[in-house]
Amino acid sequence: MAINIYNTLTRKKEPFQPLEEGKVKMYVCGPTVYNYIHIGNARPAIVFDTVRRYFEYRGYDVHYVLNFTDVDDKLIKAANEMGEGVTEIANRFIAAYKEDVGALGVKEAVDHPRVTENMDEIVDFIQGLIDKGYAYEAGGDVYFRTRSFDSYGKLSHQSVDELRSGSRIEVGDKKEDPLDFTLWKNAKEGEITWESPWGTGRPGWHIECSAMAKKYLGDTIDIHAGGQDLTFPHHENEIAQSEAHNGESFARYWMHNGYINIDNEKMSKSLGNFILAHDLVKKHDPQVIRFFMLSVQYRHPINFSDELLKGAKSSFDRIKNAYENIQHRKTTSMNLQEDLSWIEKVEKLKEQFIKEMDDDFNTANAISVLFDLTKTANLYLQEEQTHEKVLRAFEEAFEELAGVLGIVLSSQEELLDEEIDALLEERKQARKNRDFERADQIRDELKDRNIILEDTSQGTRWKRG
Ligand SMILES: [Zn+2]
Repeated sequence: MAINIYNTLTRKKEPFQPLEEGKVKMYVCGPTVYNYIHIGNARPAIVFDTVRRYFEYRGYDVHYVLNFTDVDDKLIKAANEMGEGVTEIANRFIAAYKEDVGALGVKEAVDHPRVTENMDEIVDFIQGLIDKGYAYEAGGDVYFRTRSFDSYGKLSHQSVDELRSGSRIEVGDKKEDPLDFTLWKNAKEGEITWESPWGTGRPGWHIECSAMAKKYLGDTIDIHAGGQDLTFPHHENEIAQSEAHNGESFARYWMHNGYINIDNEKMSKSLGNFILAHDLVKKHDPQVIRFFMLSVQYRHPINFSDELLKGAKSSFDRIKNAYENIQHRKTTSMNLQEDLSWIEKVEKLKEQFIKEMDDDFNTANAISVLFDLTKTANLYLQEEQTHEKVLRAFEEAFEELAGVLGIVLSSQEELLDEEIDALLEERKQARKNRDFERADQIRDELKDRNIILEDTSQGTRWKRG
């Protein structure tokens, strides 16, 4: 069965066919690193990390690229306000981004390119567009000649004439046409700049993604993804630049995630309902936040409130409890009579989970399957006698399916006193048998669990560190 993806370009679900067998080339637009990210930016991080994990689960090798915009107007403004350099601010918020999304279970990208480290490629890309007649220089700026790209508007499903009616040339504008957009900006006094054939300046926002996608993934990529708000103009402009420059189709599948509302209102600074991921992960279990974000299919809007997050926590705990009860029962399981019908039930649920994820990564339905697994596990636990093999099948299914969603159910449990005593007895025997390797292994293991040993003439004592 193929994985079906809703493609913004065609407005249809399409079976995924990779450019290269077993591989996925995926580019996700990353943050502008001038501040901590808000939960609206955390959503694409979690959603597309889950897409990546699912592809990996299905055996694909995913080349996942997420860029950092580390120079732009907002960064320059922030640098001026804070009396710091643009690079220092970018470094600080790149580290914060990695920390915050890392807490939310997001894996590091294979490549995290930064604009300032790819300036040569960006300048070359712009020069290539000028050479082909798709771009022009005007007073130290460079613009893309939008009308020269025939299929402009194909991603956002708008015609150039529709767009034209809403825009006009401003006084002092250097553009030939109001639809033209900036590729290179002439430097203002005191701003951070780079050398270029058009004088000192810095790149516009859209061009960086075209240049970096080409450098890290090639002319044509499998999947390009980002928040819904990036569809126009950012992604539309990326397509125009890349296809004009490379003469090839740019991305085969375009994925966009829906918005986040806060208490049914749009998140905005003026409403004062701006929630930073950085604060949220400190107040709530990040696993629960991730679980909450995935409880809605990624294309739909999601509403966030404390009440809803609380609800997500109790749902999450129900799954976790069933998993822990299964684990716990394993230690007392005696029955040798196998009942394979339970294992079959577990297998069926796994198949169902895959079917839901194959349908445009429907994590909402996949989570419903996790609840079915929970119910089934609870029913099994009511049996008077349980079999270890069945318990293990449940345990593995919980770990496997939650793992695909980037959720870890197991928490390292504290060792019980009896367990420590048993390990110490084993260590004593090992030493008696001159098996010092095993003895040391046990000591190290206990040390890892924060148990401190003290060898005395009366034997070994232990205490919790
Ligand atoms: Zn981008």
